Formats: sequence, structure tokens, C-alpha cells
Amino acid sequence: MYLYNSASRKKELFVPNHPDIVKMYTCGPTVYHYAHIGNLRSYIMEDILEKYLRYAGYPVKRVMNITDVGHLTSDADEGEDKMLKGARREHKTVMEIAKFYTDAFFDDCAALNIKTPDVVEPATNCIDEYIKIISKLMDTGYAYFAGGNVYFDTSKLDRYYVFNDFNAEDLDVGVREGVEEDPNKKNKNDFVLWFTKSKFEDQALKWDSPWGTGYPGWHIECSGISMKHLGEDLDIHCGGIDNAFPHHTNEIAQSEAYLGHKWCNFWVHVLHLNTSSGKMSKSSGEFLTVSLLREKGYDPLSYRFFCLQSHYRKSLVFTWENLDNAQLAYQKLIARIAAMNPEDGTVDEEAMRPLDEKFRAAMDNDLNSALAVTCLYDVLKAKISDASKLALIGKFDSVLSLSLLEKAAEKRKELQAQKKADSAAAGSGFSVISESGEENEEIAAKILARRDAKKAKDFALADAIREELRQAGVELTDIPNGVRWKRI
Ligand code: AMP
Ligand code: ZN
Repeated sequence: MYLYNSASRKKELFVPNHPDIVKMYTCGPTVYHYAHIGNLRSYIMEDILEKYLRYAGYPVKRVMNITDVGHLTSDADEGEDKMLKGARREHKTVMEIAKFYTDAFFDDCAALNIKTPDVVEPATNCIDEYIKIISKLMDTGYAYFAGGNVYFDTSKLDRYYVFNDFNAEDLDVGVREGVEEDPNKKNKNDFVLWFTKSKFEDQALKWDSPWGTGYPGWHIECSGISMKHLGEDLDIHCGGIDNAFPHHTNEIAQSEAYLGHKWCNFWVHVLHLNTSSGKMSKSSGEFLTVSLLREKGYDPLSYRFFCLQSHYRKSLVFTWENLDNAQLAYQKLIARIAAMNPEDGTVDEEAMRPLDEKFRAAMDNDLNSALAVTCLYDVLKAKISDASKLALIGKFDSVLSLSLLEKAAEKRKELQAQKKADSAAAGSGFSVISESGEENEEIAAKILARRDAKKAKDFALADAIREELRQAGVELTDIPNGVRWKRI
């Protein structure tokens, strides 16, 4: 499998560090608000990556953090703690909103068929891990204490800008408009490992540390949680592209300074979901959530289908029209699968192989999910039994997770129930339909009399009535359980 590695800016052959396990880490949500569907694009594509690794035969251990402390309104350690801001907005405690939005996040994930990682760890659970790392960084001179906070000293590194496909302006997050520069930092890109002082006094969650009572910075959380559960090395680290700098750059700086060796091999970044007016975010523009999609009558899985139709390394523009098209295509796909007969033929692995190989080739090429989706249509057109087609669709869907077989089975049931209802309705009555819409009781009575004659097997009488009507310029056509008539 080839994966694009943001660290080398190349597609590279994926080879795990250990044959028996792929160690995968995902930056989790900051639980101060609902996830928007942009955030969820990242989680959908990371889910596809995890599931495809498993499909390709790798055992995976995937860890994700829940950021419930330390993420400030600016990613460069400025501003207010997002959790505190959320708690104030809702007149609740930080822990109450953390619980509420963590649950809401996993509800959204469930609606989008995103698997829960093997380990989900709230940042507030691992304070000892952060203190251990920061203590060593202090001892080895990579960190310094200034103005009440502990900072990482980026000037101590030979190389800091790992994801250096950013221009100098993008790197200037520390001096972004409306954000004051921190005078305690020795270098512009130094970042906080541990806060004891901040511009706001009412930080809800604090812990004792060798540097005073305080709380961890956001970046140290991911290094600490990853090392706690995955040890000293990592195969794949993922996140949205906005995490590349400064968050992931800082994670690499502190982890490698702490470990004294390379930490993570592959950095996988999902490009943003944008609206027509720019990046989707919680602070500006329409706040699009899974619940809003539902309220507007969309199946959340239509959104997943929409995401899969484009490559994760291309930014994706969300419009309602695009989602409508995706929903329509998704429903049609389900209808076509529902029209298949599960009893048709047997599962022929040999016949399935070339289609499976095409699916793997698409996914092996840096997760080309759009091409993988077209493989579903190849299956529909293939000259193999329906049983084989359904087996293949089920296999592909173990990665794509569009609930295709379940939804098709439901649809098939609905269709069968509908058919039954139609024939029951047809059996219960006898319709006399005038093609022109004319109502004529006399003609209707004659038609019913002919029906009764036929029922009584008096076919001579039935034919006589038809002839009589014909003479009167009325032509009859027998239809299932009724008669249509018209004037000639
Ligand atoms: P947050 O909860 O803000 O920490 O973000 C959770 C995840 O969503 C991170 O991996 C972000 O990089 C990612 N993310 C944020 N905005 C977007 C967006 N518009 N499109 C895709 N991913 C995003
Ligand atoms: Zn992270």
C-alpha cells in the first residue's frame, strides 16, 4: 500500500515498524461543542484508512485522544481555554460539557458508521504522563520555565519545521491578528508544555506539578497519550491539515527530543471541507452538524458517500446541491443492490477475484476512495451471479461502511411488502375504469353483470353482454381484477 506522507511530501510504500501490529494515532475532538461535518470528514477518511489496513491484513491498534483541557482559542497557546469558554457559554461545568460533547461526538460517529478507535483517552486522564515527559525535557534543556509557564525551546532543535510546505506567513500563528504575542517565549515558535499562569484566572481544572499548580498544553497531550498506549514509536499519525502546524510540528519536536530518536513514520493529513465562502469552522459561517443534516431530511450516510467520492488529499466544497446529488446516487445504488436476488447462483470466489483486485489497487494507491466507490458499480455490471455480487459488495463495504447490504435488504423487504399489499388490494375489489374518465352507471352495471355471469360460468351471457355493449359503441378490455372501457 502506498500512502502519502506529509513529512516527506511523497507517496511512500507503507511498511509497519512491527509485523504484528500497526500503531495508529488520531487527534481526537476538542469537546467544547458539536463536531461540524468538516471535522467529521477527517474522521471518516481516517476510519477508511484504519478499515482498509485491516482489510489488507494488518492488525491495527488505533488510539485517539479526547481534548478536554488545554486547547486554547489559538492553536499557538494564546487566548482562552476552549473548554472553559464552552462551559461559560452553556452555564455548565467543564466536565459536564466534556461529557455531553464527547457523547454527542460518538453519536455522530455512529450515525456515520465511524468505528470507535481501540483506545479513546481523555486528556485529563494522563497528567502523570505529561509531567514525566516535561520533567525530562526540563532536565535535558529542551524546556524552560518563564513567567509561570513551561515552554519548549524550539531553538534547541536542528530542524523544527517538519511540515515546511508552509510559507513564512502561515507559520506566524503566534502573532496572528487579535492575538497578543507571549513575551515569555524565547523564540517565536516556542510553545507551552505546562501552564500555571494564563491571562484568565478561573481555569477550572488544575493539577499539581513540579512547576506549580496548573494544566497541560494541548500539544503534549497527544505525545503523552500516544506513548502511554503505543509506546515509543508510531506507524501512522493522522489529523486534519490544520493540525499539521503548529500541533503536529510541536508533537514531533517534543516527542523526539524526549525519546532521542525518530517517533512516527507516516503523517497523514485530511484536507478541509470548505463552504463556498472558505474553511468550515465552528466560529464562522453556518455551523453544519449531523443533526442539521437529519433535520433537513438527509441520511447521514449520504454525507459519508459524498466524502468517499473525493480524495482525502483534495479540499472538498460542501453545497446542499452536492449533497443532494450524493444522496440521490446513494439511494439509486441501494435500489440497484436491492433489485438483486440473493438466491441467484452461488458465491464464486474465482470470479470475484479480479474485481477485488481492482478495489485493492484503488485503495493501495493512497486510499483512492473515489475509485473504490466506482468498483461497486463494476460489480453491479459484472457477469457473475447475484450471490457473488452481494458477497463482493459486502466485502468492499467492510471498508466503505455505507450499510449497503443492510439498507438493500430493508428495501427488498419493503418492496416485497408493497407487492403483497398491492395484490391484496387487487384481490379485494373489482374496478371499472373508464378510459376517458366518463361516469356512466348503466355501463358500469352491465360490466358488473358480465363479471357475475363469468363467475357463475355462464359464458354465453357474459359474451352477450359484451356484444350488447359493443353494439352500443363501448369496447371492454379485461385487466387484472377489473375492466377498462372506452367509447369507439
Ligand atoms: P478539533 O475538534 O477542532 O480539534 O478538530 C478535530 C479534527 O477536525 C482535527 O483533526 C482537525 O484538523 C479537523 N478539522 C477541523 N476543521 C476541519 C475542516 N473544515 N475539514 C476537515 N477537517 C477539519
Ligand atoms: Zn493531536
